[in-house]
Amino acid sequence: MCSPFGTPVYVFYEEDIERNYRTLRSALDEHYPDSVIHFAVKANYNPAILSVLREMGCHAEVYATGELSAAQQAGFDPSALLLTGMNRQPAAVERALELGVEYLLVDNATELERLIDAATATGTRPKVLIRGNPAMDVPTRPSIATATRETKFGLDIASGRAMAVAERAADADSVELAGVQLHIGSQIRSVDAYAVAARELLAFAGDVRDTCGVEIDVLDLGGGFPVSYDEPVPEAEAIIETMATTIHETAADLELPLPTLFLEPGRRLLGNAGTLLTSVGVIKETPYATFAVCDVGTNAVSSYWPYPVYALKDGATGHTYDVAGPLCYSGDVIAEGVSLPSLERGDRLAIDRVGAYSLGSASHTNAQPKPPVVLCRTNGDVDVIRRPETVDDILANAEVPDDLQ
Ligand code: PLP
Repeated sequence: MCSPFGTPVYVFYEEDIERNYRTLRSALDEHYPDSVIHFAVKANYNPAILSVLREMGCHAEVYATGELSAAQQAGFDPSALLLTGMNRQPAAVERALELGVEYLLVDNATELERLIDAATATGTRPKVLIRGNPAMDVPTRPSIATATRETKFGLDIASGRAMAVAERAADADSVELAGVQLHIGSQIRSVDAYAVAARELLAFAGDVRDTCGVEIDVLDLGGGFPVSYDEPVPEAEAIIETMATTIHETAADLELPLPTLFLEPGRRLLGNAGTLLTSVGVIKETPYATFAVCDVGTNAVSSYWPYPVYALKDGATGHTYDVAGPLCYSGDVIAEGVSLPSLERGDRLAIDRVGAYSLGSASHTNAQPKPPVVLCRTNGDVDVIRRPETVDDILANAEVPDDLQ
């Protein structure tokens, strides 16, 4: 575990990111070579990490507009970006088009009108992907399921709303109706859900052809590839094989040409590539548990996944701890009932597999600075890719009116 700092610190491993990308890319090369991986930047918008993926040949899905800036800072060619978002301001859309972003996702009718206006204003002709919602059962936590009946995302397919927007896109001269997209959710625990999603989306593509007279070039099945925290999950290779088989069979049934497949994985590319190092400051016995209270807590990890926790010391496990943070709320416990070697003050723990979504969702609860980030390079170097924050950084934008001073 390399870090030039004390703790807490996030440690990312370039080799793991590269391996994760290669796993997905090889499975696609084997089963569906006409495909492009767009890393979902929401999973981690650190420009150095984005650069690692860019160098591998990965494209990026950027949720307007901050993520577009992060991708620019990471050196992505705008033509390798897919701009998503569900309330993009007209100026942000124009900026993306002027930069040369080609593919834009449309989540609702208003977004399409804004895009048509922005394309006219900039004299560009962007490629539109319509985000469909098949309103299906999504095998994951409700808060991260995004193709359900209740969701705010996408355009319902069954009611005809998605088709109405597709027709408008097909009729508008300033945009090209290029494809259809869906993202069923994150941490998807079943391969079959992808088969259902692919069939539903291709059926919609067939209806678009019949209604609008447009053959769809791009089928975008989003992300959702899971990471194993404390239970086995489907392998990414199995998901990709199933997607490919389903696309081949369904396209043949519907007499559709095989589309280019876009994927938007986030968690699977980074989840297991980042670890949070922390130090134990207090060992506290209560009648119910022994708490190892650390120098970082749930403010620094994406909400409450069962992250594996290891002690960076030798010794037989079998001592049971609740690993807690220092924050002022009872829920600030990262893991309960963890079997570790006997701990004492100063021991270091690794909270593992925090590489996806943790940096983006880290908070300043109790005015706690966010931990710095280091990247352990494949060549053995250790680079700082986010400097340590200070309390002054947190307070920098605060103002106190004169009469309160
Ligand atoms: N694409 C879209 C549109 C998303 O909303 C998300 C996650 O919320 C992703 C891709 C990435 O999902 P995951 O990290 O589970 O692969």
